[in-house]
Parts: sequence; C-alpha cells; structure tokens
Amino acid sequence: MSSNRSAPSPKVYGWCPGALRPMVSGDGLVVRIRAPLGRLSQAQATAIADLSRQYGNGLIDLSARANLQLRGVSPETHGSVIAGLQELGLLDQDVWRESRRNILLTPFWQEGDVSHRIARSLEGALLAAKDLLLPGKFGFVVDTGVKPLLPNCAADIRFERSGPDILLIADGTQVGCPVTVDTAEEAALDLARWFLEQGGAPKGRGRMQALTARRAPPPAHEVPRCTSAPQPGPGNTASGQLVALEFGQITAKAFASLAEIAPLRLTPWRMLLMEGARDLTTLPGVILDATDPRLQVRACTGAPGCLQALSDTRDLARDLAPHVPEGQILHVSGCAKGCAHPGPAPLTLTATSSDTFDLIHHGRASDQPVKETQSASALRAAPQILTKGR
Ligand code: SF4
Repeated sequence: MSSNRSAPSPKVYGWCPGALRPMVSGDGLVVRIRAPLGRLSQAQATAIADLSRQYGNGLIDLSARANLQLRGVSPETHGSVIAGLQELGLLDQDVWRESRRNILLTPFWQEGDVSHRIARSLEGALLAAKDLLLPGKFGFVVDTGVKPLLPNCAADIRFERSGPDILLIADGTQVGCPVTVDTAEEAALDLARWFLEQGGAPKGRGRMQALTARRAPPPAHEVPRCTSAPQPGPGNTASGQLVALEFGQITAKAFASLAEIAPLRLTPWRMLLMEGARDLTTLPGVILDATDPRLQVRACTGAPGCLQALSDTRDLARDLAPHVPEGQILHVSGCAKGCAHPGPAPLTLTATSSDTFDLIHHGRASDQPVKETQSASALRAAPQILTKGR
C-alpha cells in the first residue's frame, strides 16, 4: 500500500527511551525499565508500583518489547526514580549499556535452558563488543522453545528452534544458520558485523529486514525456519498464569496487587506472566477472560499522553471493541506512526484530527485509507462502517 495522504508524518526517533534517557511525552517523562531477563521479583514489582505512585502519575505501561514504562514522571522527580531503580538492581551504569541490552527473551524461559543461557551470554558479549556500532534500535529476540512464539516481535537478529537445530536468523528471511549454545553469541556478533559491512546502517540507522529485502543472508543461512505457535491468550500455562492489560497499561495500585501474589514476567503481548500462579479468578485491573473483546483492539497512548497524537484513541477503541469481527484486530492509532501495532492489521483507524480518522483495511497506520475520513461519532453510531466494502 502507498502512504496515507490525510495524516501528517509523525516524528521518528532513532533510539528507544530508557530509564537514564527518558522520553518526553504529553503527560511528562516516560521512564522505561528494562528488567533483566524480563523478570521482576515480588519485591522489585512492589517497589516499582511505589515509584510510580510517588514520582509518576500512577500509570505503568508494558511495551511491545516487554519493557515497563513509568508515565508522568517530572524532571524534578526523575532523579528519585533513578535512585529507586538503582537500589532495586534495575539500573544500568550508563545510557550506552541501557540501550545495548536490547534483547527480548521468550517469557517461558526456564533457569538454565537454551533461551536463558543464550540470552545471558549474548548480553555479556554485546556489552563487551564496544567496537560494534549498531543502530540505536537494533535488537535481538531469543525464542528457542519448542516452537517460535515471537516471530511478530520486532528484532534484527533472532534465535529460534527448528527441529533439533537452534537457528540464528537475520530478520526478514525464512532460513537460518545452525548454532550451539556455545557458538551462539559469537555467531550473533558476526551477523551484526555482516549487517554493518553490507551497508545496513547508512548514517547510523537501518534495520536488518530492509537489508535482507535487497540482499541474501550469508551463505551458511540455509536451514528453513519452523512454523510458529499461535500467540497465547490469558489463562494458565505450564509456567504460570497469563493476565492481559487493557491497552498494555495498568495502574500502580493493581500492579502492586499482582506483585503480592507472584513474581512477574514481562511479555511482549501486553500480558504479564504470574510465575507459578494458576486459576486466579479475581484480580484487579487485568483481563482474565480470553474472550474479552478488548483483546481484539490495539490503541496507542494517543492524546493527551503523546505529544504527536492528533486525537484520543482509547475511548474510541473501547467503544468499537464489541463490533470487531471475531478473530480480527482493530488498531486505533493517534498518528501515522502506529506504535501500538507496527505491522498490518485487518482494520486500522488513524487519526487525522482531534475527531476524525482514516480507515485502512489490511494495512499499517501509515497506509492509504479505503474510505474518506470518518468522524469518531459516525464510527460509534454505525460501527459497521469498519468492515463495509471489504
Ligand atoms: S502512534 Fe500513538 S503513541 Fe505513537 S507517536 Fe503516534 S500518537 Fe504517539
């Protein structure tokens, strides 16, 4: 699809926010916490809820890369948040280390398993390879369970299992190179160097997928990837209970309640895995029912929380959720950047002003709309507009 003509172009940053380098948003600073291995002990989670209440606006986001974000922190209280995170062992020494640890690990890892060992050694190797000048958003996925679970999560280099093999994969390709736990970190660094040598990051920016769209991966990449497993929904798993967050957000109060029950693992699916928990039926501020219509909508922060947003997004998404056809996703985006769902969605509404949206079928937030701009009130009054003419 060509690009959307109604919506103005959003600003694209070449880096991701962290704790030491927070991002300015419409409701204050967004302080992103990269929990090691995506896990928080009960004490850490309780303390994070306290930091959010004391120094932020009491709202916590779970990002699509399984990081937590404290919202509404002010420049004056940022130092106190940093001190708190330091005490919890959740702070890197500097911004470079913080952004370098861009590794997304399957939430179902077990102590000492292949995913856990690769993620550990890769983190050490990345921090040691100071000569490797990768783009700010360059990221890794370690997903070596029986079947891949994270193929839709953004990454440049992936580890997945394919039958008996552990594969190293350049994003955008359907083949990989077999590695072992012992060779994985060096092979990943070699692939990152190949990316740079092949011109993957002119002027310091670029993604592997764009490079592999125009160039074949290295010759040893010839083993086909395995079919992925469907993304799990809320409910029991062998590792604990998954609970979903409406729009990936939770109040500090509800987060503290979850922390009283179990350690938390952060997932990229806007769900928390409550380690070892099962059959919990009443929990505040989370979605436990896998058929809840809110699980079929994605909506970014929107106005007023995001400075780039042209409109509020979440009220409209909540109202339209019951009208989204079964098995489909509606993405409501405050601008053409599409943060809440970067890939194509069956239905997308992209704000073009404070009360109007472009409707896109099977595309991204920046794609060409199929209908003339619709007002939010017209969409609420006649939600069948969403699917008409498909
Ligand atoms: S997509 Fe949403 S959150 Fe992202 S920049 Fe646009 S308005 Fe902000």
